[in-house]
Amino acid sequence: MTGVKSEKIKISFGRRQFAVDVMWSERKRLSITVYPDLKIVAKTPAGYELEVVQQRLVKRASWIARQLDFFEQFQSFPMERKFVSGETHYYLGRQYRLRTRRGDTPRVRLLGRFFEMQLPDPNKREKAKALMLDWYSEHARDLLTRRLAYYLQAFVRMGVTEPQVRYRRIKKRWGSCSGNGNIMLNTELVKAPIHCIDYVIIHELCHLICPQHDRKFYQLLGRILPDWEKRKQRLEKVII
Ligand SMILES: [Zn+2]
Repeated sequence: MTGVKSEKIKISFGRRQFAVDVMWSERKRLSITVYPDLKIVAKTPAGYELEVVQQRLVKRASWIARQLDFFEQFQSFPMERKFVSGETHYYLGRQYRLRTRRGDTPRVRLLGRFFEMQLPDPNKREKAKALMLDWYSEHARDLLTRRLAYYLQAFVRMGVTEPQVRYRRIKKRWGSCSGNGNIMLNTELVKAPIHCIDYVIIHELCHLICPQHDRKFYQLLGRILPDWEKRKQRLEKVII
């Protein structure tokens, strides 16, 4: 959009920070919209100074937080799966069709666009599910360990001590970093594109230097990963 003055600003609400796209236009009142993809847009009268907009946004911060919370519950919503032929499953951001076949040795492999699952009785859903979860868990641990080791080198050079890393399969969050520097990575990440996986790993590694989501944290993250916001947005659309 040419000719429209716009700016991206950050507002704080408790420990949270929101990025808001502010757009100035010929209008009488300021309006704030929170979109289902968690984008926040403020349309503001042409005459408003940035400080005024900032103040108005801070006043509405709790409302913005509620909107975000509402939409957030629909992000990365886990799909109900039956582990039967024809179903779609994700790996590294790509879709694969599940194909089950009867065979003595239980195993899962990727063949072209298919997840081929072999087991003695494909109708035993619980067995099929366990087999598939094992496959994901094994591949996730292997991949996450390698990616983390790779990015960790740069952080060690910045003086960071090697963190303890745990892998868990959870629904709520992609990763976390505790106050004493332990990192948790969600094995479901392996269903996301690799550039999103890297974003989560680097985000958590940045917490080893800046524990809070404050300005310093985002400066560091932005320096290491200038396009982190794009990666985060893509990650929010990942189906697990
Ligand atoms: Zn964080």
